[in-house]
Amino acid sequence: MAETDVVIIGAGLAGLGAAAAVRGAGGRAVVLEASGRTGGRARTDHPAALGGVWFDMGAVWLHNAEHNPLVPIARAAGDTLLRSDAIRQERTFIGDRLATEAELAAYSGAEPRYVAAADAILAEQEDVSLAEVTRRLPGDPWAATIEAWEGPVICAVDADRFSARDWRRNALAGSNLVPDGGIGAFVRRRLTQGLDIRLNSPATRVCWGNSGGEVTVETERGSITGGACIVTVSTGVLASGTLPFDPILPARVSEAVRQLPMGLVVKVVLRATGADRLGLPGHCFVDRILTRAGDPLIPFQCWPFGRDYVQGWIGGSTAWDLAKQGEAAAVDFALGYLRQAFGSRVDRLFAGGATLVTHWDADPWVRGAYCYAVPGAALARDVLGEPVSNGHLMFAGEACHVGLAGTLGGAWISGQAAARTALAATGFAGR
Ligand SMILES: Cc1cc2nc3c(=O)[nH]c(=O)nc-3n(C[C@H](O)[C@H](O)[C@H](O)COP(=O)(O)OP(=O)(O)OC[C@H]3O[C@@H](n4cnc5c(N)ncnc54)[C@H](O)[C@@H]3O)c2cc1C
Repeated sequence: MAETDVVIIGAGLAGLGAAAAVRGAGGRAVVLEASGRTGGRARTDHPAALGGVWFDMGAVWLHNAEHNPLVPIARAAGDTLLRSDAIRQERTFIGDRLATEAELAAYSGAEPRYVAAADAILAEQEDVSLAEVTRRLPGDPWAATIEAWEGPVICAVDADRFSARDWRRNALAGSNLVPDGGIGAFVRRRLTQGLDIRLNSPATRVCWGNSGGEVTVETERGSITGGACIVTVSTGVLASGTLPFDPILPARVSEAVRQLPMGLVVKVVLRATGADRLGLPGHCFVDRILTRAGDPLIPFQCWPFGRDYVQGWIGGSTAWDLAKQGEAAAVDFALGYLRQAFGSRVDRLFAGGATLVTHWDADPWVRGAYCYAVPGAALARDVLGEPVSNGHLMFAGEACHVGLAGTLGGAWISGQAAARTALAATGFAGR
């Protein structure tokens, strides 16, 4: 006998979206969350190192705001959405000097050319790596920088490991908004009300496939059976084998998980010890033109919202390497990078200042930042989102959405869609 209509594993955006959809349809959902908090990769802290201001350890922006379902929720609740794009200023360096107006104009014209080159290749070939797109633009002085942005910085993966088709299917568009007070706080405040969420309850086994379709999820505190189950854990957790399935998952599902490994982004925050602001305005993004494909690119957001720190994003294999080496190595790397543009002024400003380095690789319930498709596997997201056991077992999350993959909005939509399929599988017709 099912104890609830749907058991949901994970209280991140996908799990909360799924639970809200089940509840909205009049059904019952129980959400099992391994950690002691809701939100998953949407997590707002108030680190002492940054003087107690709110800081998003994971996701920050509501991307593609015009089509992001979380934006109307925030607006309806009267929350303030900070127009991060409108106040954003940019400084682009070539070596230790600022790019000229002519160089900036050429740089901004390069992105559409890069996209067109990718589309031309993908019209001829099923898939290639993103690095291959760069290789086909040998005379383009901006291609290496665009590759670094689209690969490691935005998608958390080196271009040679990343499916160009996955990139094109999921490229971000539109504007970006930031909920005042942080995205994790917004999620907890607005997206968890009225839901049956059981914190500190890691699922330890998922038993599925019996004749009635019910799914029993085991935890250390006992088990719960639902008419259906939605699994929203990251592909990093799925690949780790720490959540066994009985019977084992169909080969197409395990293959999709293998084809969607986790990328990594490490945020390195350096707090200023003096009044110097490096000649930069508040909320300023420092970008750099790379001369060689594969070189690291670390965009820095300097003095965000007028605060006294800078934060750099390090993605892809450099991020994994630094995560292994430890915090001090990440801080050194970030300082060395800033030194290229600002010289020893950087050392005077940040020496002895507080630092913060994020560690999503070490979170056992996530194991990375977000996933990417390997070359040739651009359809893996669709496969992972397909119903198993006639819809009694569903997977949802950032890995399963196409269009907003790797984002909060994509995870939420994917959870809601999985909930509709799961409820239909149980024969639920309202209560
Ligand atoms: C550094 C960083 C920056 C990012 N920036 C942005 C951004 O600016 N904008 C944006 O839209 N997105 C961003 N993202 C991506 C975004 O955070 C994710 O796409 C989204 O939060 C994923 O939601 P999810 O529900 O799929 O997964 P998760 O948030 O990972 O939720 C899954 C939940 O399952 C739980 N869980 C795991 N194992 C078990 C188990 N065995 N039993 C029970 N529960 C379990 C986890 O604790 C977690 O709470 C960023 C991510 C990172 C890491």
